[in-house]
Amino acid sequence: MRDGTRKNMKQKYICHDCGKTIQKNEEFMAYEIEGVEYLKCKACHQKDPVLRNFRKTEVYSRVVGYIRPVDQWNQGKRTEFDDRKTFDLAGSCC
Ligand SMILES: [Zn+2]
Repeated sequence: MRDGTRKNMKQKYICHDCGKTIQKNEEFMAYEIEGVEYLKCKACHQKDPVLRNFRKTEVYSRVVGYIRPVDQWNQGKRTEFDDRKTFDLAGSCC
């Protein structure tokens, strides 16, 4: 985590929480997690200094009898997962 002001205008500086563009010379807080940099504007950082909701949601499903993260499936199984249709059991009963 580091704080600073914006120096390079070519890079897009967007607040992770509110989505606003951080203007030149505006203070922000930067968080680096697993090689990815996330920024918070000063107002959002003062509201909540903890970075939340930055991780991708891991989806688990059943494949050949095992419950495994879909991201770890091979391409063919992932395509099959995308083709699956979901339905609501509660609405289908008599
Ligand atoms: Zn913000």
